[in-house]
Amino acid sequence: MAAIGLETLKQKAIAMYDILVKAYGERPLKPPRRTPMVELIMTILSQRTTAANEKQAFDQMWARYGSWEAIRDADVNELTSLIAPSNYAESKAPHIKATLARIIEERGEASIDFLEDTNAEEGLIWLMSLPGVGIKTASLVLLFNFSKSVMPVDTHVHRVSQRTGLIPLKMTAEKAHVALLEILPAEPHILFNFHVSCLRHGQQICTFAAPKCPKCPIKHLCDYYRRVYIPKI
Ligand code: SF4
Repeated sequence: MAAIGLETLKQKAIAMYDILVKAYGERPLKPPRRTPMVELIMTILSQRTTAANEKQAFDQMWARYGSWEAIRDADVNELTSLIAPSNYAESKAPHIKATLARIIEERGEASIDFLEDTNAEEGLIWLMSLPGVGIKTASLVLLFNFSKSVMPVDTHVHRVSQRTGLIPLKMTAEKAHVALLEILPAEPHILFNFHVSCLRHGQQICTFAAPKCPKCPIKHLCDYYRRVYIPKI
């Protein structure tokens, strides 16, 4: 990004942050909503899946096995059936087993608490080396559980960032993890609240099929509103 453009984007990002946090509420980053291991495995289950189905898949899996070691040793077909409420269960089941096997073998226990003492880059590299773990899952675990300065980009954060012009329209979600970090303050509390409020905004107002632009509190900052919505009315 050019230097002048970057400063403008930083101002826009913080203006959006202030408005969205007022609209959707500011939340504490701590305590984490889940333990790191539960966050990691539930986030794998959440990929391309609703929150309700993610929870049902996890609850069925945990009710049957009751420990990470038992899930590691589970029959893959049985595990696939149990997590079937989650989409792509047939690929997630072997990924979960392999991820647990790797963690237990490498760390000597079913724990990733050591990430507390790594920096964000080391943590991302390690987590993304696990089967089934991409940059979004790794970033969620590092921000939500270890307060690292990373920016998880889910489909809502991606869409809101594209439409408002924080990132180019054609930028992938993977690249947006890095681009948004360049324009947001490297403060975990702000990154967390930016993520959560963009997610809420994408679910409630800036929806995929029909964004409710007239109701939007950040429309004066939005490229889509100026270039697409206004010319149509
Ligand atoms: S003005 Fe419309 S497109 Fe822009 S952020 Fe708001 S809802 Fe989304």
